[in-house]
Formats: sequence, structure tokens, C-alpha cells
Amino acid sequence: MKLDQGPLNVQKLGKKSVKHFLWISLALWTGFTFVGYFTPVQTLWAESFTLSFGPWEWFWVLFYGFATYGNAGFMREQVCKYMCPYARFQSAMFDRDTLVVSYDTARGDPRGTRGRKDDKAAKGLGDCIDCGLCVQVCPTGIDIRNGLQYECISCAACVDVCDTVMDKMHYPQGLIRFTTQNALKQGVGREGILRRVLRPRVLVYSAFLLALTAAMMATLAMRMPLKVDVVRDRAALSRIVAGGRLENVYRLQVMNATEQPQRYRIAAEGLEGLSLASEAEVEVGAAESRWVAVRLQVPYGAAGPGSHPIHFDVGTVGGDAHVREKSVFLVPR
Ligand code: SF4
Ligand code: SF4
Repeated sequence: MKLDQGPLNVQKLGKKSVKHFLWISLALWTGFTFVGYFTPVQTLWAESFTLSFGPWEWFWVLFYGFATYGNAGFMREQVCKYMCPYARFQSAMFDRDTLVVSYDTARGDPRGTRGRKDDKAAKGLGDCIDCGLCVQVCPTGIDIRNGLQYECISCAACVDVCDTVMDKMHYPQGLIRFTTQNALKQGVGREGILRRVLRPRVLVYSAFLLALTAAMMATLAMRMPLKVDVVRDRAALSRIVAGGRLENVYRLQVMNATEQPQRYRIAAEGLEGLSLASEAEVEVGAAESRWVAVRLQVPYGAAGPGSHPIHFDVGTVGGDAHVREKSVFLVPR
């Protein structure tokens, strides 16, 4: 702040340039790591040396980089106060036994300045010397002495600074501390807080959290790194081809959800004499999807007129990933 208010000189310019350089680098790194969730990160890393990202990758790297630069650098506490939904969500889970950063009013009030050697009791004062440091260090600019406020992000900066003031005054630490509203009201310490830890709300929330974690782990463990969509070719529902065979055409979208290129084998079954007349194997790049035209044939007269259920089997060549998708084979009258 002092530098900001000072005159523009070489030192100020140097410091500001270095700050913005680091800040922009970190912001771009945020954008890069975000895009890395959707584009194979090794490819992205290689492309970053030649700046040869695709147009969407450029857009998202710059967009998230710009958002980080603006939010973390200029908006700061405004993001915590007005944009972040966490405070609203968190307050729905609070009760009077939740650990929060609190000012101990009974101990601190009445507030007032005094010398280090003054007898506070004789002056009728509490432990708060009203130095205002807890307000100065607060990143969201609140005065925690006014009680619990939704803007508080529990960073504990006020706890630390107040403890240093208490040390200088030779008062016990903890005028601002992590405690619960019930503990403050009842004047109980750590044991009183611990006795209220295993209450129904905590048990229910913990059970939900455990169930969600278990579900997430199970989903991850059972995740199939291959997806297949089957679309019938509407242009040619069914046709007779050379050799007197009946042919249906499909389009398969094969999605490779791994970080390596994969080769997949396509097969189809469900109808007497059904065979594949197109390429049986297809290669799909890392984290890419590919549309493949697939032709299925049956000998003419092998199946009656109508729609016959069939299914496609697509699996990794030499691997475990395997997907079975339903479709139909049409035989005209
Ligand atoms: S830092 Fe501590 S002593 Fe200073 S005003 Fe805040 S609560 Fe009072
Ligand atoms: S914990 Fe952090 S955000 Fe909350 S009042 Fe203290 S300094 Fe401010």
C-alpha cells in the first residue's frame, strides 16, 4: 500500500513488473491445468512450447487465466463475499456447536486502550485493548468482535494477530479463537466442546459424506474407459448388395477415455448369419472420439421382414474395456 501511494520510480516499476509477471504466470498456469482436464495434458504441455494450442484450448486457457488474474488479484475479498456460494452453503450446516472463529466478548469487553503496566480491573476494562489490528488483517474487512458474520472465511489471521497483542500485554492468548457459540455462552473449554462433537447432526453428515465417498470410489473403480454410441444411417435403411445379401448401415461413435491411443475390435450379433462387412478394427487417439461407418449384412431371406434386435460388441484389442450397445437390423417386406 505504501508502494502504491509512493511516486513512480525505477524501484516501483521493477517491483510491480515482477509482481504482475508472476501473477500472470500463475494465472495462465491455472488456465493450463484447467484445460488439462479435457485435453490430454502431455499433448497440451508439448503444444505449450510451440504455442500451438487449438482455438478452444487457447480460448479456455486465456479465459481461466484472465479470471484468475482478475478474481485473485483485483476482486479478492469481493469474490469471497459476493460470488462464492461456499459461505451460504456452509451456514446451512452450522449450529451452535460448530467450531468458528469467535471473539470472547465476556473476556474482552469493555474494550479500551491502556498502558502495558496499567491495572485493567481498576480501569474497568476487559482484555481487548481496542488496537484494531484484528480488523486491519482481516482479508474480508470485517470486525469479528461484532459476532459471527457470513463474510468470515475462517482464515484465522485475526486469531494470530490478537495472540501477538495478548503476548505483548502479558494476557493469556485466545481472546479471538476457534470455539463454539455454546462454549462461549456456557464458559466451557476444550472438554466441553469435545463432549458435543458426537451429536446427531455430525453423525448424519458424516454418514452422508462416507456414503458419497464410497460411491465416488466405486464409480472410479468401475469406470469404463470406452463409450460407444450407435446411430442408424437414416439415408439407407436397408439395401440389397452384391452376392444377394441384405445390408444395414450404422454409424458408431467410439470414445476413447484413456490417455493412450487404443485399437478397438467391433463385432455384432443377435441374428442368424449376421456378419460385419466393414473394417473390424478401428484406432482412436488418446482422449478422442471417432465416428465409424459400420455395415452389417445377412443372407437374403435369412430373417423375416421387420425389425430385429441386435447388439454391437466393441472392446479394446488386447485389453479389458468392453461395451455392448443395442440396435436393430431392418428387413424390408
Ligand atoms: S486484535 Fe485483539 S486486542 Fe486488538 S482490537 Fe482486536 S480483539 Fe482487541
Ligand atoms: S478469521 Fe479471517 S476472515 Fe474471519 S474475521 Fe478473522 S481475519 Fe476475518
